[in-house]
Amino acid sequence: MFVPKILTACVLSSMFVLGGCQSIQFNQAKTPSVESASVQLNAANMMQHLQAFEKIAKDNGGNRAVGTKGGLASAKYIIDEAKKAGLQAQMLPFENREKVVGQNIFVEIAGQTNESVVLIGAHYDSVKMGPGINDNASGVALLLDLMHQLKAERTQPKHTIVLAFWDSEETGIAGSQDYVKKLSPEQLKGIKAYINVDMVGTKNPDVMIADATKSSVDDMEKMLKERGMAESDYKPLLDGMRSVPTHAGDIALENMLSAFFKDKKVTLKKDVSTLTASDTAPFLGKVPVTSIIMFNEKMNGDELEFAPCYHKACDTIEQVDPKSLQLAGDAVVYLLKNIQ
Ligand SMILES: [Zn+2]
Repeated sequence: MFVPKILTACVLSSMFVLGGCQSIQFNQAKTPSVESASVQLNAANMMQHLQAFEKIAKDNGGNRAVGTKGGLASAKYIIDEAKKAGLQAQMLPFENREKVVGQNIFVEIAGQTNESVVLIGAHYDSVKMGPGINDNASGVALLLDLMHQLKAERTQPKHTIVLAFWDSEETGIAGSQDYVKKLSPEQLKGIKAYINVDMVGTKNPDVMIADATKSSVDDMEKMLKERGMAESDYKPLLDGMRSVPTHAGDIALENMLSAFFKDKKVTLKKDVSTLTASDTAPFLGKVPVTSIIMFNEKMNGDELEFAPCYHKACDTIEQVDPKSLQLAGDAVVYLLKNIQ
């Protein structure tokens, strides 16, 4: 049985000044500053993680939801992987709106400075209806491979990198919300970027990134006007999207991702609404935020399905294309290299 180690405070303490908190030191050799150009993620490794998560779901009633055996086994898997990499995982428990206790997990890769941090997050819980392999073991697998690759590097990244494995995204985006709520203004200031990775294994994906300039809302308005739709019918929706908080640093991240995907000849969809529907939501307007999501939307009867088998029992490894994982992984590495 897995008994989570409970840390009630001091998470991320090494890069934030926290009175009374003990700094956590990782035994990473300080090496000269060199661009970590050789970090290369590997989709085959990510697929192995997905196989492990699929087995965890299979062995635990078909899902990996917050507070379930499958959820705890998923947490244990992440912690064991950190151990294998020679890193320490920290857990921070919280309670969601259903009074279920979840566990956020953090793994830190020390950078040349511990005063600035790039936070990369993916939720590891699934819905109760399925194993959640694309949504979002795919994002977790990307983070795990990144963790191993960064640890294997001989050079330190510029900023300290914190990998955040959120729990209870599927129930109220509770894990990331709890974490952000507890950050001080100084800690928020130290976060150079929050990069959210959610559903990145989708086959034939429409790659969606955060639309910081909200130009997609203007485009949508123009299209709806041209179609003759009454303004009163679409205005509340567009106003809602326009009121999504932004940070001055969002646009630089969006531009980096745009440049990366342009180089890969991938057409992007820029989207505002997805930002409020994942672990980006609590960070909006507080720190520079960006996100990578891969959808493949189609109407399923009256219902819009974001990707095949979305939130269903069939969200298995069958739904995942390693090429999508590789593309998302390369995009995250590109961001890490370019964030100043
Ligand atoms: Zn989901």
